[in-house]
Amino acid sequence: ACLDRIEALNPKVNAFLYVDREGALEVARGVDAARAEGQELHPLAGIPIAVKDNICTRGIPTTAASKILEGWRPPYDASVVVKIKEARLPIVGKTNMDEFAMGSSTEHSAFGPSRNPWDLDRIPGGSGGGSAAAVGAFMVPLALGSDTGGSIRQPAAVTGTVGTKPTYGAVSRFGLIAMASSLDQIGPVTRTVEDAALLQELLSGHDPHDSTSLPDTPSGLVAACHGEAGSWDGAGSDPERPLAGLKVGLVEEMHGEGYAPGVLEAFENAVARMRELGAETVELSCPSFHYSLAAYYLIMPAEVSSNLARFDGMRYGLRVEPEEGPVTAETVMRATRAAGFGEEVKRRIILGTHVLSAGNFDAFYGAALRVRALVQRDLEQAFSRCHVIVSPTSPTVAFPFGSKTNDPLAMYLNDIATIPANLAGIPGISLPAGLSEGLPVGLQILSPARADALMYRVAAAID
Ligand code: GLN
Repeated sequence: ACLDRIEALNPKVNAFLYVDREGALEVARGVDAARAEGQELHPLAGIPIAVKDNICTRGIPTTAASKILEGWRPPYDASVVVKIKEARLPIVGKTNMDEFAMGSSTEHSAFGPSRNPWDLDRIPGGSGGGSAAAVGAFMVPLALGSDTGGSIRQPAAVTGTVGTKPTYGAVSRFGLIAMASSLDQIGPVTRTVEDAALLQELLSGHDPHDSTSLPDTPSGLVAACHGEAGSWDGAGSDPERPLAGLKVGLVEEMHGEGYAPGVLEAFENAVARMRELGAETVELSCPSFHYSLAAYYLIMPAEVSSNLARFDGMRYGLRVEPEEGPVTAETVMRATRAAGFGEEVKRRIILGTHVLSAGNFDAFYGAALRVRALVQRDLEQAFSRCHVIVSPTSPTVAFPFGSKTNDPLAMYLNDIATIPANLAGIPGISLPAGLSEGLPVGLQILSPARADALMYRVAAAID
């Protein structure tokens, strides 16, 4: 049914760059046979899943939506894909995204944008717009995304789906095409909070192939959705008031200026609902958040410029020789990168090399790292006064195509509420919080690092 729906809708939505019909059916038939034999199976066995195209799948094209990797088939699976295969979820295909996960709208994909199933003239968010559109359009119940500055949560918010960025290190990054390694994290895109918990539990676990993978990854996520884990100080057991004793932080810098009135209204309704369920709200301030977007847009491109150095026209994918002059490593590299990378990727590589250059390092990169430390400190102080923080996920609902493409700064502002979690390494989830102008609004819940179970428990109570 999923494959048929993809066939019917993908020409309009462009959520998938590649569909593996035969591969998916083979896994599904195997699960049917195993079930008939009474074999014990993972709870998600047989449930179709889509994988963002910056996650390596052995023998299946993995392009990160870039011309430079067009046609490249990885010789190995990402660790998360190994886990998905072991649990026997059929992988139906690879989803569209902004090139190398740089963007907030999928308009930077080299293979055309994905469209928002709620309104085909609007963006589905980014960079993981394909995964969110696929889940939002009921093409598939589960998808994988990657979140460096919001690329799971913001697309989930604007497509009415659920998306989680786990605690940094909870899910292995081995086989994720690196964008900014100190910020990147793989996570689930689903229709419900409990589905996200099921999928994150499957994906997490220590991985010796990823040196930043935690030795003890957060667990009890599904149990938390049933109120059986992820408890907080003073949690009660009244089923009518599942959030009794919970202190919810409202950060001044995360819901005022720059947020659309309709988004704020939906957000306030969600907070009111949390109060009805027993939560108490605490007003907080994180002054460093005024600088977090600027810090992110220095740290991220710095890491991008280094990570993308590997696309040299020799190791993977595209190779372009210069039209005239000698064919040397240098000229092939230059011609390949000029032809293979899109404008946004080039913008970030140039910015990244600039901020890392000898004369600028301290003024830009060093200063950004200091802001990152302040963001971590502000969040630590905030979490000494509350259990979770809530905010709108994105300052606006899905915007029309083209409205921000010529203004990178306007595009970057989409990430204002999602970036602090990446800078601090804490988990964040976005879940549907009603509509504004007939379009979905997302509620973001943040918890301290490793407290993913607490975050899921709160999210499930209001889902
Ligand atoms: N929109 C952000 C950016 O363009 C987030 C990207 C991401 O999380 N991959 O950098």
